[in-house]
This record gives sequence, structure tokens and C-alpha cells, in this order.
Amino acid sequence: MAENLLITGGAGFIGSHLVKRFLNHHSYRVINLDALTYAGNLQNLKEVEVHTNYVFVKGDIQDAELLDRVFQEYQIDHVIHLAAESHVDRSIDQPLDFVKTNVLGTVTLLNTAKKYLQKDHQRFHHVSTDEVFGSSGAEGFFTETTAYAPRSPYSASKASSDHFVMAYHHTYGLNVVLSNCSNNYGSYQFPEKLIPLMINNIKNEKSLPVYGKGINVRDWLWVEDHAEAIDLVFHKGRTGETYNIGGNEERTNIDMVHLLCDFTDQQLGRPQGTSRNLITFVKDRAGHDLRYAIDASKIKNELGWEPSITLEEGLRKTVSWYLENESWLEDMVSGAYQE
Ligand code: NAD
Repeated sequence: MAENLLITGGAGFIGSHLVKRFLNHHSYRVINLDALTYAGNLQNLKEVEVHTNYVFVKGDIQDAELLDRVFQEYQIDHVIHLAAESHVDRSIDQPLDFVKTNVLGTVTLLNTAKKYLQKDHQRFHHVSTDEVFGSSGAEGFFTETTAYAPRSPYSASKASSDHFVMAYHHTYGLNVVLSNCSNNYGSYQFPEKLIPLMINNIKNEKSLPVYGKGINVRDWLWVEDHAEAIDLVFHKGRTGETYNIGGNEERTNIDMVHLLCDFTDQQLGRPQGTSRNLITFVKDRAGHDLRYAIDASKIKNELGWEPSITLEEGLRKTVSWYLENESWLEDMVSGAYQE
């Protein structure tokens, strides 16, 4: 009989890619538990909603009674946990929302998992971010042993959830794995995030707000490559271990915006350089970390994972997707998807 896999946050950006990957590549029954906050959209899962091995449950990971029912009714064998408040700017305005979902929600889910995942092979995979390591200097990379030093309410809440996951492994023997990934980009990302926001504004000839001087550096990974890495860590990662996942594609924000301007102009048939004129530098984000940089050699050496495409290839595909899926983007921007 197929095993039952609970994916939380499966209606979000990364979660929707992961749900589709698991339904297309494996034989699990996938139970997607998602509260459908502003960031969740069932349109992201249209192509799998009639899949015989797919179940959607609307619910909040802070709801212990609901979790109990879900674990019992669907006889959950494994969990991949992605549900979270994920946007740094929102965490600066509403830090408590991040504590509620990312910390309390994760611990509530861990409590339920501890109760029902009693067999040794039953696994809890926690999906986290490289932002827990804080801001790196101009040189060097975050490894799995880098000390945590979160600096935004978002990263502090994710760091706390990571610690709880490890604590449940050491204290209660829960079979956990953790992965910490750099910035993702690709289809179905909510347009408050840099890449879809810029593509949408370029398309509509609106100004392109760039924080500070645009010199902050991020490492970028194509979301499908992240989904593949999660798949590998979930199936082959060693219990109680953390795996860093990165694209080895560091860029300053201003370089990213230039690339997006050039690729979008090209695909829209506009003269090169047109959209760069729309760039406007705005007041920097409070506490803006200068640089995140991942050393992904552990997952490469142990599990043989590497990104499958370059940033330039992935960005071209991403620009095409947002231009071809105009109605998805417009519904997200207008809020129509929530009706
Ligand atoms: P997202 O904001 O697009 O999606 C989050 C999903 O979680 C949404 O579908 C939302 O409805 C759901 N959700 C929120 N609160 C919930 C709650 N209380 N109960 C149940 N569901 C809830 O986020 P994303 O970008 O897809 O990120 C997914 C995970 O990956 C997060 O844990 C995030 O920290 C982590 N991560 C993201 C990135 C990135 O670049 N996007 C990088 C590394 C790690």
C-alpha cells in the first residue's frame, strides 16, 4: 500500500512544486495541509487536483485538534513541513504572525508528529532557509556547522523552528532531517517577492523599487532544483542531519534587476535598456543583511545533488512563464485568486 505523506504549505510557491513532484515521481498519497493565507493559491495545483493520490485539507498547523484528525484519518507516515509566513518585509511589520505560524505552528505539528510517527523510518523533514545564519561578510560561505545568528523577525522565527525540530530529534527520538536553502525563484511565486514583482512592473512599465544601493548579495536557486534537493534529502539524508542547499549563483540585487530588465525587454521585443530606466532606489530595508552565501558541498558529496541549470537559463524560463501566465499574475496582484 502507498505510504501517506503530509506536505504542509503545499499551496504556496515551493510547496506546490513539491506536491507536483511527489505525485509525478513517487507513489505516495500526498495530503496537502494548507491554511490558504494570502500566500496560498489552489490555482497553483490545478494540474493535480484530480490526481487519485492527492488530498487537500484546508487548515492551520496551529490547530492541534485538526492535526490529530488529519494524522488519524489519513494515517500519516511522513511529513515534509513547508507551511510558514515567509516574507521578510511582512515580518518587520507583523513579527507576532511569524512567531505564531513558524514557531507555535511548527511545535504543534512536531507534537502531533511525535505522537503518530512511531516507526523508525517515519520521517519529519523541516524545510528552512539560509537566513538563519545571519549576514555573512564579503567572503566565506555558510556551512551546516555555521552558528545561527538570525537578524530579522522572519529568520529568528525560522531559526527557532529549526532548533525545535532538532530538539524533538534529540529529546524524543523523532526521525528528522532539515534543509536550509537560499533564495528560490521560478513559476508560481507570490508577486511581493523580488523576481515576480520586477517582471510584473517591467511588463506594466511601472517603477522598479530597489532597496538602498542594490548591493545586497543573495544566492539564487531555481525552485524545481530545490524540490529535487528536498526529495533527495527526504529519501536519502541521514537522520538528525542538516543539509545546505544553494545555487552557487550569487548576485547583487541590482545585477538581478538588470538581468530581469534585459530578459523581459528581449522577450517583449523592446529595445535593450528600455526598462533599466524604471529602476528607482528606495530607503533600505531595516536591518537588511548584506550577503547570504551557501556552501552546498555536503549535499553534493553525500547525495550527489547539484543545480541542473544556471541562473541565466532559469531566469529566462521564469520570465517566459510570468509573461505567458498573465492571468495568474493579474489574479495574484489584484487579490482575485482569494475569491
Ligand atoms: P509561501 O509564502 O509561498 O507559502 C507558504 C504556504 O504556507 C502558503 O500556501 C500558506 O497558505 C501556508 N501557510 C501559512 N501559514 C500557515 C499555517 N499557519 N498553517 C497552514 N498553512 C500555512 O512560502 P514559500 O516561499 O513557498 O516557502 C515555503 C517554505 O520554504 C517556508 O518554510 C520558507 O521558510 C522556506 N524557504 C523559502 C525560500 C524561498 O526563497 N522562498 C527559501 C528557503 C526556504
